[in-house]
Amino acid sequence: MTNLDGFFLFAFFILGAIVGSFLNVCIVRLPKMQSIVAPASRCIHCATPIPWYDNIPLISFLVLRAHCRFCRKKISFRYFLVELLTALAFVLFYEHFGLQLILVPYLFLLSGFIVATFVDLEHRIIPDEISVGGLVAGLALSLLVPQMHDTSDMTLLAGRWFMVILVAFCFVLLLVGHFLQKDQETTSIEPDTAESDGMFYTMILIACGLVFLIHSLWPLLEKPGWENILPHTLSLEASLIGFLAGGSSIYAMGMVGDLIFRKESMGGGDVKMLAMVGAFLGWKLTILAFFIAPLFGALAGIVVKIRTKESVIAYGPFLALGALVSLFWGNQIIDFILRGYGFF
Ligand SMILES: [Zn+2]
Repeated sequence: MTNLDGFFLFAFFILGAIVGSFLNVCIVRLPKMQSIVAPASRCIHCATPIPWYDNIPLISFLVLRAHCRFCRKKISFRYFLVELLTALAFVLFYEHFGLQLILVPYLFLLSGFIVATFVDLEHRIIPDEISVGGLVAGLALSLLVPQMHDTSDMTLLAGRWFMVILVAFCFVLLLVGHFLQKDQETTSIEPDTAESDGMFYTMILIACGLVFLIHSLWPLLEKPGWENILPHTLSLEASLIGFLAGGSSIYAMGMVGDLIFRKESMGGGDVKMLAMVGAFLGWKLTILAFFIAPLFGALAGIVVKIRTKESVIAYGPFLALGALVSLFWGNQIIDFILRGYGFF
């Protein structure tokens, strides 16, 4: 390890701890619909504003021995855990991807995962600020950083077909569900979620349209003078396809589950979360994440069931784990599977 390498490892650890400290604010405030910028940090027990020297990531928690300086009440270990986890994850990401532009979108995604995981574990929701906000960020970053996506003709062509079939399948399921529900006269969906779901479906249709718009612009973009723009638009197309494939695959699974078990099995938050993953990872790695997540989920589900006799678990953390495995080793795993089936 060179001195410079050591410096960057250290710098990413510090940066991660600082970001983690901000993620803690998001984890506490987003579920309560509070602003994440103002007011400044306060003790959750006595509401005393926390001075800067008590707000140093990792260190303050240890110095104060997990107690508020003013009211002496306990500070949750989660604050320290999130800061340490984020710091270590930043170091791992730097080690794995190197000092490249691609680190920026991936660290964004990681940060979203950490917030989604801790909020979902506590409140059983994934805030729209993370999932829908992350989805928009993923699309924008894809446009800016084309290295995020495999934009080979084969991947885009297969992705477009895969996406169309999945989205069409979702709308068929939606129709079937609609007619079945009419018989039962039950509306399990609350008005506010119905409104945000409606917006989400509109986004899906717009995204589908955009994919084909971009595709129809190809001949124009391949002309001389546009070479610099082409990779960016292809990357955006890959991101849109990933968003649609991710969102509709888990939506379809949830709908099939609903129709079979006649009860809500997959939350809207999970659909939006995998849609966000798709916007960052593209369709291949996202579908892989879709299959990896239940492996973690099943393991944890068994543990939870044995310990608490509860059968409902937060699924967001497993989607995040699946997506991280897919991000780090997905291409090797896909190669391995395709080789196993004799494609090479
Ligand atoms: Zn206090």
